[in-house]
Amino acid sequence: MQKIKDLLKKTDLQKEDIITLLQAKEEDRLVLLQQAAIIKKQHVGNKVYLRGLIELSNICEKDCYYCGIRKSNTKTLRYNLTDKEVLEAGQFAYENNYGSIVIQSGELQNENFTKRIEQLLKQIKRLSDDKLGITLSCGEQEESVYKRWFDAGAHRYLLRIETSNKKLYEKLHPTNNLHSMDKRLKSLELLRKSGYQVGTGVMIGLPFQNIEHLAKDLLFMKKLDIDMCGMGPYIEHSDTPLFQYKKTLLPLSERFDLTMKMIALLRIIMPDINIASTTALQAIDKVGREKVIQVGANVLMPNITPGKYRDSYSLYENKPCTDENAEDSMSCIDIRVKLAGDEVAYSEWGDSKHFKKRQSND
Ligand code: SAH
Ligand code: SF4
Repeated sequence: MQKIKDLLKKTDLQKEDIITLLQAKEEDRLVLLQQAAIIKKQHVGNKVYLRGLIELSNICEKDCYYCGIRKSNTKTLRYNLTDKEVLEAGQFAYENNYGSIVIQSGELQNENFTKRIEQLLKQIKRLSDDKLGITLSCGEQEESVYKRWFDAGAHRYLLRIETSNKKLYEKLHPTNNLHSMDKRLKSLELLRKSGYQVGTGVMIGLPFQNIEHLAKDLLFMKKLDIDMCGMGPYIEHSDTPLFQYKKTLLPLSERFDLTMKMIALLRIIMPDINIASTTALQAIDKVGREKVIQVGANVLMPNITPGKYRDSYSLYENKPCTDENAEDSMSCIDIRVKLAGDEVAYSEWGDSKHFKKRQSND
């Protein structure tokens, strides 16, 4: 235990240290998680910010090998919310004091899609009297597109690197220009340049992934100086190419535990960023998101997509709450967050402190 305590005192954790911490068991594991909880309270306090998640469409031009809504999956029923449904979800978030929403979608790179998002952003800003914060998660786009969306009112963007290891990235994606890791890195750069608070993240427990990859993922996020992170366990989907490696995967409980440690470590090495407690955690453990709030996450993304579409936005299997409307009632969210020892920060944007600090230093 002393070794773990000594490591946690270091200000500049190296790859080998992180590997040791990711492997911590029993008491050592608890020491790590407790330290992360302390650092979270010190740097970002006990507020949890809400982002109402709107899954705009599962129509996607890409073919990522892990994802249930990849283009080649002919078994998925494709949908596109109507503008009215998106605006109603925005209105719901506004009236229920969520403070912010996230618009997430399969990736499309065309003018119709760009324009549609642009107009929706403007309309949501208008209906909420400029009060709702908006995060986008709509994949890789040209710089001009990122700029248009920023000018229309989006101010945060989530684009996961999925893994920072190039060889592994190539095993998870087809080899073509549409799925190049260099392009993904470039997109992250363009997002920063366009003025967004930039979020990225990885999947944890992927086939071919080892503990060293994960340690390097954390150092990658630190080096990129990200403002926000959304990372979660990889969950296999039977209609995807990666499903054939199911037998090589860690048990779900271990993927969950690794995710907790990854989040705790990220909080320790980047104390003032925003870290989301992702939906995939809840697919493994009913109170998974709350557990992760206790060890470092400070953002919750309740799903507010209209219920009838939930089943179709199936990135992975066992996705929670696919048959309910506006996921949890507000009182339920409130109770869950309180059980985790925190408070919901209603009607606040909850921007990344890290971003604000960087801006004031520029
Ligand atoms: N098309 C956009 C946004 C939707 S996908 C994009 O790719 O950025 C959002 C995230 O879902 C992806 O970044 C990926 O990390 C995650 N995801 C996809 N399939 C998954 C799976 N099988 N298990 C866990 N997460 C998955
Ligand atoms: Fe499309 Fe995103 Fe799924 Fe890749 S991860 S197939 S880009 S929705």
